Amino acid sequence: MGIGIVPAVCPLVVAGASGANGVDVHELYRTSLPDIYAIGDCAAFACDYARGTVVRVESVQNANDMATWVAKAIRGDEKPYKAFSWFWSNHYDLKLQTAGINMGNGGTERCILGRFCVPQPY
Ligand SMILES: Cc1cc2nc3c(=O)[nH]c(=O)nc-3n(C[C@H](O)[C@H](O)[C@H](O)COP(=O)(O)OP(=O)(O)OC[C@H]3O[C@@H](n4cnc5c(N)ncnc54)[C@H](O)[C@@H]3O)c2cc1C
Repeated sequence: MGIGIVPAVCPLVVAGASGANGVDVHELYRTSLPDIYAIGDCAAFACDYARGTVVRVESVQNANDMATWVAKAIRGDEKPYKAFSWFWSNHYDLKLQTAGINMGNGGTERCILGRFCVPQPY
């Protein structure tokens, strides 16, 4: 089961950033406002692994990878965001791991559910 969140993007929207579900960013993570970037849960982008559909990806991997990509872009190494989506979550003695994006039958997600040996936070 997965549930989502409503991103708190009010200040950006009030400032004029476009977006209906979060804040829209193009492939170089820029919002529609000059020099304003958005990453992580709040950033809605056309995702290769969702067949180009505009999605927000709510995962630690996406937040971390987007942070790395945007930091490099600000330093002049601008590359479109292409990190492959993956996700893990521990539930008691079960570890859930997914790769790809769940878009129903047309998506790329593969899921592995197994027991883990070393308890980890999260
Ligand atoms: C219950 C729960 C379980 C989860 N489990 C998993 C999991 O097992 N695996 C996984 O990969 N992901 C999991 N996630 C998702 C993961 O936590 C998020 O994808 C990730 O934290 C997103 O990082 P972020 O930096 O985009 O946003 P956040 O971590 O939400 O950070 C945003 C920060 O901005 C601050 N903020 C908001 N508005 C303002 C403002 N106006 N001014 C200043 N600061 C502001 C917030 O207080 C917050 O600290 C889970 C999420 C939840 C809620």
